[in-house]
Amino acid sequence: MLGRNTQAPTANDTRRPAGKAMKAGSTFRLTVSFMLVVVVAFLAVESWRTWRDYRSVFASARDSVTNLARATAQHAEDTIRQVDVVTAGLAERVEGDGLQNLDVPRIHKLLVQQSKIMPQLHGLFIYGPDGHWIVTDKEVTPEMANNADRDYFEYHRTHEDRQVRIGQVVESRSTHDLIIPISRRLNNPDGSFAGVLLGTVKVSYFVDYYGDFRIDDKGALVLAMRDGTILVRRPFIASVVGKSLANSEIFKTYLPASNEGIAQIRAVVDDTERLYGYRALTTYPLVVEAGLSKDSITAPWRRDLLKNGFVLIFLILVLAGFGLIVLSQLRQRIAMEREIRSAHQAMRDMALTDSLTGLGNRRRLDNALADEIRLARRQGSSLSLIMLDVDHFKRYNDRYGHAAGDDCLNAVGRAIQQAVKRPGDLAVRYGGEEFTVLLPNTENAGAIQVAEDILQAIRALELEHTGHPLGYVTASAGIATRHPVDDTVTPAMLLKSADTCLYQAKRLGRNRWCSADESV
Ligand code: GH3
Ligand code: MG
Ligand code: MG
Repeated sequence: MLGRNTQAPTANDTRRPAGKAMKAGSTFRLTVSFMLVVVVAFLAVESWRTWRDYRSVFASARDSVTNLARATAQHAEDTIRQVDVVTAGLAERVEGDGLQNLDVPRIHKLLVQQSKIMPQLHGLFIYGPDGHWIVTDKEVTPEMANNADRDYFEYHRTHEDRQVRIGQVVESRSTHDLIIPISRRLNNPDGSFAGVLLGTVKVSYFVDYYGDFRIDDKGALVLAMRDGTILVRRPFIASVVGKSLANSEIFKTYLPASNEGIAQIRAVVDDTERLYGYRALTTYPLVVEAGLSKDSITAPWRRDLLKNGFVLIFLILVLAGFGLIVLSQLRQRIAMEREIRSAHQAMRDMALTDSLTGLGNRRRLDNALADEIRLARRQGSSLSLIMLDVDHFKRYNDRYGHAAGDDCLNAVGRAIQQAVKRPGDLAVRYGGEEFTVLLPNTENAGAIQVAEDILQAIRALELEHTGHPLGYVTASAGIATRHPVDDTVTPAMLLKSADTCLYQAKRLGRNRWCSADESV
């Protein structure tokens, strides 16, 4: 056991500082932190990229639905306008001739001609004031057919406006196709109701057109009347035609605010969440909606997310694996360094330890003494040194044998160590039966007290020593105290001074101390 405390204020402390261990520990922490920072950076960059991609797919979807809505609106407008123009010209002609004087074969030829050049047309019809069919573009005009019950007929009969009217989808009486009736009122020269001119547009014409767009299965294209009644829809389901969208968000909230725009809503027809571009036609009371499902918009993004997620997880796993290898190697190195350090420390301790008593040895004192003198000078404190020598020890050896002499020295060493209380004090076996105690920052009075305690402790051992006049083991002490102010105080001088006092104590009869206080 060493008599010095590591906290002693000596410049030449024999224990190595734990700097290297701390360095290894902090390298370990640094490596873990670095790995965590890399992982967090990976995650942050990937999250940011994912968020950017998400926004970007929606931005391009917004462009797509806007373009789709614009294209379908233009198409609907063009289709209706053509029928509008044709029926306007026909109406002019029929009204000019007068319905009673109508040259039916000629008008029939004209109607056939017109309907041939317009692929959207299902038919052109002229009805008299009571609803019976006067002339059509069909080869055979049924004699008894009457359309007075049709909604558009009733409307024109009771309304004087001359605008073209777009009606709800109906099933054709002649061909059973689904058609959109586009009708206008015919007047007699006096302004009274003369009949109805009707152009019918095939719903299939729109269905075909909408079918050509390359949108996903869940995408939707809708042509509806301004009141929300569905005329055509892709995907086409006959049962949906005629249903109302009046309660949908677009009709309730968006259209009243703006004639065109974009809305992300859940469809009332099929409960699918879509991004819709909507547009109300300016010339006709129609609305188109073009929607792409959120699922299909985000599908490529989700695929990317999955792919990148796997790559990221793989990278993190590789990094973690690599990190674990590095950390385990680091841990091994730290453990190895610790072992080497402790072996080194043990060797140093051994080199500075007296094997018999476990106290420090003379080398240890030599190491400490010069430093303590320097420290005392710097701090302006006193330094004391006690030199102890077992009395009549040669006789003890002669009387009890060398082995017992060793035991005795061991017991004396322990007694000295126990008497030395302060952490900064250093007790060593100087050689043979001589011990030295170095007392830093200790005045002479304090050193005397320590010396007395030590001598008393040795006496208290009550080790039998028949060769001694007192009959038990005692020791003598020489005490030197210095207050170093310059280089004149040296280790040799201090040792010499203590030794001289020790010699004096021996001379004065042993079992006592003598002191040389030159600290003042
Ligand atoms: P004094 O009171 O004047 O000190 O007389 P002394 O007999 O103690 O002094 P001296 O220097 O004549 O004898 C010291 C003896 O200590 C000599 C040697 O036999 C013994 N000695 C020295 N080292 C050891 C040791 O390690 N073990 C043992 N057992 N004896 C030792
Ligand atoms: Mg001696
Ligand atoms: Mg002696």
